[in-house]
Amino acid sequence: MGAKIISGKELSAKLREEIARETASLPVKPGLAVILAGDNPASLSYVKAKEKACQEAGMYSREIRLPGDVSKAELLGTIRELNADAAIHGILVQLPLPKHIPEKEVIEAISPEKDVDGFTAINTGRMLIGEKCFLPCTPHGILKLIEFAGMDLAGKHAVVVGRSNIVGKPVAALLSRKEVNATVTLCHTGTRDLGFYTRQADVVVAATGRAGTLTGDMLKPGAVVIDVGVNRIPDSTRPSGYRLTGDADFESCAPVASAITPVPGGVGPMTITMLLWNTLESAKLHAAR
Ligand code: NDP
Repeated sequence: MGAKIISGKELSAKLREEIARETASLPVKPGLAVILAGDNPASLSYVKAKEKACQEAGMYSREIRLPGDVSKAELLGTIRELNADAAIHGILVQLPLPKHIPEKEVIEAISPEKDVDGFTAINTGRMLIGEKCFLPCTPHGILKLIEFAGMDLAGKHAVVVGRSNIVGKPVAALLSRKEVNATVTLCHTGTRDLGFYTRQADVVVAATGRAGTLTGDMLKPGAVVIDVGVNRIPDSTRPSGYRLTGDADFESCAPVASAITPVPGGVGPMTITMLLWNTLESAKLHAAR
């Protein structure tokens, strides 16, 4: 028996339709500004995808391209202007930034009311104590995918592999909220015998950035696998020269799991969808003020 595929593509399409409908009914047009410093090709393609998704949802999108040697002062000045710009409800700084720019200082310059990535310390703190805030997009998308898969996590054991500030830690925090009520174990490179923990899990969220971190023998039969990883594996049969794969070894996990997210087409599309969601929320709050 093979695992059911949890399609982030399908759920995204559904949610994006709802977002577009609500956007069309608002008195203000939600506006998202995306700042890109430098010309990292992966970052550029993410920015383009975000811009396209925004336009398809009927939102206003503004791309701000800055040179790779932009000064910190100029970047902070751009953010200050956007913070004060009434047409902009969400500000996103595409990471990673050029090495000479301190990422933390730049993120903290974004007004928490326009921080649609949910990365500022204020929004992270609000999330942790359960106050209303912009939830970080990838973790929020993961919650939506679990809900879409029809899984009730109350009393279940969730094992999160990876403790980054943008994925692992917030996923663990959200899954342990009372309204989700999972028992959460957070694993990382300091974990001895990862399989010991994942074999006890009803759901495993793999967010390590290492292909093959999770294999079928590390799963309890019937577990749900949410694969966040995006890894480029050299593949000479592809025109691009590589293929994308997740952190879970799909071949060995799918026969053991009851449901699994594919890569690509699982968590990835949800991240941009939840960015649109937050931008819409921000515009709604703005309209209500
Ligand atoms: P980071 O590199 O910031 O964090 C990786 C985490 O995984 C670290 O906490 C690290 O532990 C842990 N880790 C690494 N290897 C192992 C291992 N073998 N066993 C246990 N833990 C391990 O990555 P991100 O969280 O930013 O991203 C994770 C993956 O998700 C990447 O592939 C990224 O591309 C992808 N991603 C996908 C998104 C999407 O929209 N689909 C969005 C964001 C990320 P330690 O702390 O000890 O070093």
